[in-house]
Amino acid sequence: MHENQLPATPRRFQMFIDGRWTDGHGNQLTTRHSPGHGTPVAQWPAGTAQDAKDAIRAARTAFDTGPWPRMPAAERAKVLFKVADLIEQNVDELGLIECLETGKPITQAKGEIRGAADVWRFAAGASRSMAGETLNNLGDRLLALVLRQPLGVIGVITPWNFPFFILAERLPFLLAAGCTAVVKPSEATSGTTLRLGELLQQAGLPDGVVNLVSGHGSEVGQVLLDSDLVDMVSVTGSTGTGRKAIQASVGNIKKLGLELGGKNPHVVFADANLDDAADGVAFGMAFNAGQCCVGASRLVVHRSIAEVFTQKLAAKMRRIVVGDPLDPATQVGALFDEAHMHKVLSYIDGGVALGATVVAGGGRTGCEKGNFVQPTLLTNVTAEMPLLRDEIFGPVLAVIPFDTFEDAIRIANDTEFGLSASIWTQDVNLALRAMREVQAGRVWINTTLDNGPEAPMGGMKQSGIGRDAGLAGIEEYTEVKTAHINLQPRTHWIGASDGL
Ligand code: NDP
Repeated sequence: MHENQLPATPRRFQMFIDGRWTDGHGNQLTTRHSPGHGTPVAQWPAGTAQDAKDAIRAARTAFDTGPWPRMPAAERAKVLFKVADLIEQNVDELGLIECLETGKPITQAKGEIRGAADVWRFAAGASRSMAGETLNNLGDRLLALVLRQPLGVIGVITPWNFPFFILAERLPFLLAAGCTAVVKPSEATSGTTLRLGELLQQAGLPDGVVNLVSGHGSEVGQVLLDSDLVDMVSVTGSTGTGRKAIQASVGNIKKLGLELGGKNPHVVFADANLDDAADGVAFGMAFNAGQCCVGASRLVVHRSIAEVFTQKLAAKMRRIVVGDPLDPATQVGALFDEAHMHKVLSYIDGGVALGATVVAGGGRTGCEKGNFVQPTLLTNVTAEMPLLRDEIFGPVLAVIPFDTFEDAIRIANDTEFGLSASIWTQDVNLALRAMREVQAGRVWINTTLDNGPEAPMGGMKQSGIGRDAGLAGIEEYTEVKTAHINLQPRTHWIGASDGL
């Protein structure tokens, strides 16, 4: 028996608009069932378009006339530090909500909440270092100032795979810049985002600065994308939703931040430390049940070691502990919902039907309830198999052998995505050459999935636009304004007229 339990009744959450808790204008509730247990664990209002408009209006007023964008960064930082402290004080509670709604293991969920507090803390401190530029090289006559000003009202649309952590990679950064926000979490996993509202209130955030609206993307999210009162929308999710955001943004030419899909390669060269690489690749593909935008989905391995490495990796993968998300010993929990599980299984079955070989996993685990899939390794994959092209978003890894360095890079880059890549070799020159050549916003060498709020992240190609985290993550939510100042008597363009 472990301390974390399923709730007897679903926990009830409300939306947070203009500093008030509300069920909004609709009368529907969304009920979330735990993906690992099938029991109802949480409920929140299915927000409406009107709720989204109310929230946008509140954020607009808070930006246009409220204190938040106008106060010294040091004052904003105090509030953000307090939020970080409150998150840390509530790790157990937030972690349990996250675990129950997403199906991820409780130990991992609590780690993500703790990590989120650290991200809030980084953004709080970094807010005080935001500065513009002075151009003092324009000659005696001119001096130019480059100001960074808060961008305005930001819509933040987040997915279900890392609800609280992904929000932490965006919200404190835009707040640090002096912006205000309307946040729409995934309709399936809104609990921790709504609970955050109470912590924001407790920390002293002025009303209307952050508004939290649960509800469907097609309704609440679309209002954010379409609204002329919103200056920027940050979307983390599928490429399809990214395209909708681009289409909707033409209305008021709003700025977009997009973090979309990936089809991320791990390139293993012949000289790699094979035990370390096998462990890293297994972690990279199975973490969060493969529902990780930067997770491993293609193993590009030198032909001379392909067989031995595949066997080592398969042995590691078979030992991954998949099971009850509430058990602290669990390493991989359940997939997000049943339909998604069947989609993941159909990629495996479809590949096998076309001649792929299953080396590890291959189907569901023995768990009676819940959406559990075994970490699955496939060889003999060919270009016609959708599993080689599409983002599966499950614990499925396809093996592709290579012969030369150029081959490895060509295969790694042979995708419409460009989110992340991992390189395994002990040859520093090879590692650095591969790092340069690979088309990805994030590259790991002899490790994977390491991150920290200091480093910016984002995608190349169809994986996205813009960067989150790091100082770039605050700059993203600022507008650059340039001012030229004349320091000399004016040389007139039109000569003085007689007598005047
Ligand atoms: P979606 O893109 O559908 O969802 C992400 C967010 O966008 C959710 O909050 C969703 O709302 C919202 N949304 C959906 N449609 C619209 C719209 N028309 N206007 C505004 N907002 C909208 O992704 P899914 O959650 O369905 O996941 C599907 C795929 O997306 C995954 O298989 C994976 O490929 C990719 N993905 C990538 C992630 C990443 O980190 N890069 C994270 C999650 C998913 P709603 O609550 O209604 O779903």
